[in-house]
Amino acid sequence: MSSSPVVERRATRGQLFIVSAPSGTGKTTLVERLVQCVPGLRMSRSYTSRPARVGEQDGVDYNFITRERFDMMVREGQFLEWADVFGNYYGTSAADTEALLARGEDVVLVIDVQGARQVRSRGIETIGIFVLPPSAAALEQRLRGRSKDSEEQIRRRLQVASAEVDEYSQYEYVVVNDEIEAAVGRLQAIVGAERARVRRVREDAEAIIGTFHS
Ligand code: 5GP
Repeated sequence: MSSSPVVERRATRGQLFIVSAPSGTGKTTLVERLVQCVPGLRMSRSYTSRPARVGEQDGVDYNFITRERFDMMVREGQFLEWADVFGNYYGTSAADTEALLARGEDVVLVIDVQGARQVRSRGIETIGIFVLPPSAAALEQRLRGRSKDSEEQIRRRLQVASAEVDEYSQYEYVVVNDEIEAAVGRLQAIVGAERARVRRVREDAEAIIGTFHS
């Protein structure tokens, strides 16, 4: 990226990105790579009632909590959005997200389509990116390849996927995850373009414009 202040500096408040995709599309890997190469962009850490998988760490991959605590957080209105995904509960803390945005970080929520709908319905300004697999067959192959699901679970995931992909047009951008590096590059381009919007950089641009008129 250029060192021009107009490209590099961000307005005070961060922007909220949402990435959704059917299970098995590789969205988490993509976003993990994205936040590694884009300064000032953070992936939100969700709360979930599902048990940690081997290799997952509490406070790193998710905040793993009990179903009772999850229900309590729902009752107390602590979630910006929450959803039941394949029988487990997942939610984004409103306070955690607000703290990041308020200190000028851009935040990415990697959430399912139900959660994305809830955030939008609150009238919050978001930039939605829908990640598509190259085809239904490619998704099926990936789900089988990662071999963590039973045949029944794979069928269920494919069924849910076919309903989820129909929602792509509710998002601002679509990225096809055909090849990981290329897809990360496209995500990076989207973040860069959103950061360069006139309303985001007006203050910096005005400062430069001012040097022409002094
Ligand atoms: P997994 O259990 O494989 O980590 O995630 C299952 C699904 O839950 C994924 O589609 C993921 O995007 C979604 N998910 C993870 N965190 C959240 C969240 O905070 N809210 C919502 N609505 N979905 C989430």
